[in-house]
Amino acid sequence: MNYLGIDIGGTAVKIAHLNEDGNVLTTDKYSVNFDNYETPILETVLKSVDVFIDKYNVEDFNGICVSATGQIDVNKGEVIGTGGNIKNYDGSKIKEVIEDKYKVKTTVINDANAAVLGELFLGKAKGYKNVVMITIGTGVGGGIIVNGEILQGSLGIGGELGHFSINNKGNMCTCGNRGCYEKYASMTALIKKVEEELGIKEINGKDIFEKISTDENISNIVDNWINDIADGIVSLVHIFNPDIVLVGGAVSEQKELFIDKLEKQIKTKVMKNFLLDLKIEAAKLGNNAGLVGALYYYLKDGEK
Ligand SMILES: [Zn+2]
Repeated sequence: MNYLGIDIGGTAVKIAHLNEDGNVLTTDKYSVNFDNYETPILETVLKSVDVFIDKYNVEDFNGICVSATGQIDVNKGEVIGTGGNIKNYDGSKIKEVIEDKYKVKTTVINDANAAVLGELFLGKAKGYKNVVMITIGTGVGGGIIVNGEILQGSLGIGGELGHFSINNKGNMCTCGNRGCYEKYASMTALIKKVEEELGIKEINGKDIFEKISTDENISNIVDNWINDIADGIVSLVHIFNPDIVLVGGAVSEQKELFIDKLEKQIKTKVMKNFLLDLKIEAAKLGNNAGLVGALYYYLKDGEK
């Protein structure tokens, strides 16, 4: 059986035709912020799905699985908060609108939760029952698997790992609190530190990592950043006692300069019994994690 996967992000929507094993048969990507969200994202998504179906002659899909940015009420399949500056998105009734139009069962899940489910289905978390995943990018996303099930909380908005505080006297966050993890652990935080402390302008994550071996100041800033990331993960390990911690985002491709250092920091701080089987690894699925995870959620949800 085949399915249509839709991964709604803040800048683009990715659409894919997938089979039940999670193999992506065809995929394409469409911008959602071309007019600064004046056209509501959901409207753009529907148009893009029509374009995709037409272009690739996709006729056979038994259901639609959606992974979407923002706070998602998974029971209603509706956006109930954006936590950012996306206009005309909060309140989008994704499930209802898509089911009305395409007449097939549709499920909707938050993109960070979808990412960890994707890893559980076909990636590095396969075979494990307790998993913590953080994704480092513009912000910090996260997902938690407990006893083989995604931890969603009451509405489906649980596992919001960017917004627990690691410093109650720290920087103000967009959520209204101080010292949230993503204010320290995101790529945005690293770039901001390099720019502020070294007076460097318009640098990106890749440039920073290329300069580590030749620039001691940058190397120190990166070490402190990794230390902050480790602090958050250590707390999560103590709460969830996971088999594996997965780290996603482009930076996780840096093995020696990032993952290995992070692992060392975590292992020096975690209480010893939590370390017995603990693995710390880079996530595997990259850009398709959301689509594959949304499918896994759909298939699991279908059993209920
Ligand atoms: Zn926050």
